[in-house]
Amino acid sequence: MFNSLSDRLTATFKNLRGKGKLSEADVDATVREIRRALLDADVAVPVVREFTAAVKERALGAEVNEALNPAQQIVKIVNSQLQEILGGETRRIRMAKNGPTIIMLAGLQGAGKTTLAGKLGYWLKSQGHRPLLVASDLQRPNAVTQLQVVGDRAGVPVWAPHPGTTSEFDDPTGDPVQVARDGVAHARAKLFDVVIVDTAGRLGVDQALMAQARDIRDAVDPQEVLFVIDAMIGQDAVQTAQAFNEGVDFTGVVLSKLDGDARGGAALSVASVTGKPIMFASTGEGVKDFEQFHPDRMASRILD
Ligand code: GDP
Repeated sequence: MFNSLSDRLTATFKNLRGKGKLSEADVDATVREIRRALLDADVAVPVVREFTAAVKERALGAEVNEALNPAQQIVKIVNSQLQEILGGETRRIRMAKNGPTIIMLAGLQGAGKTTLAGKLGYWLKSQGHRPLLVASDLQRPNAVTQLQVVGDRAGVPVWAPHPGTTSEFDDPTGDPVQVARDGVAHARAKLFDVVIVDTAGRLGVDQALMAQARDIRDAVDPQEVLFVIDAMIGQDAVQTAQAFNEGVDFTGVVLSKLDGDARGGAALSVASVTGKPIMFASTGEGVKDFEQFHPDRMASRILD
């Protein structure tokens, strides 16, 4: 992921090596190359525009640092702009002051929500928390069973709606909102301190699905609503993110499938377009293939 963007940017900066001073023409040429590299990586046009304008202004502006050569200065500026479009500072989970912290997952079908539930549960458990997964995806056949497999793998209990699927609970209603509510009540009673609610996804943005996600959100009042997006989906990412942002007003973004070889730019646009931070990255199918997202480290990785 980001390999081609990374190579292109690095090559652009190489051209500046050895220059004693940057003329406006040098800056223009560099910014043009950066623009092309970002567009070729699928970064959304308005994000590219804003990005390059800021780089140009800063490169020509007063913030010239005498200790750095021109190439280093541009790298520094691009690094800090990249960090900014990736959401700025590292954003950690907001924990509830009283009772369990509730984290709801939303996104299209196949985005990686169910897989993420296991990863997040595993990660929280390794930090000393007692997470519970709640199976509120009743849309897709096998989604509940899949969450149970994921929970087993992560060593995290699952609250599931159907009779026979857990030894603890039997809920014949099949209502995802009720399942979420009951799951949270169970977590309170049994002193789980984090509840991760998996919700249904569809292949495309769907108003009925969005209303259901909103109903679940309103019923359990989560501290975090994480929008999970497959980094491989290209330009559609921005539109999908905007639809979910309007639909459920998510609090953070999770980029999944960052282990693939997608160009990655659309995923990079999501934080900028929605104004919501990227909080986690999923990097594989295994329960440990998951990391907290640090915009500064990712920016440096891209420019490495
Ligand atoms: P959901 O429909 O949003 O719950 O998506 P799933 O969690 O079922 O994931 C859909 C598919 O993507 C599954 O085959 C997962 O194994 C796979 N998957 C999920 N996250 C990742 C990831 O970070 N990397 C890769 N390579 N595959 C992933």
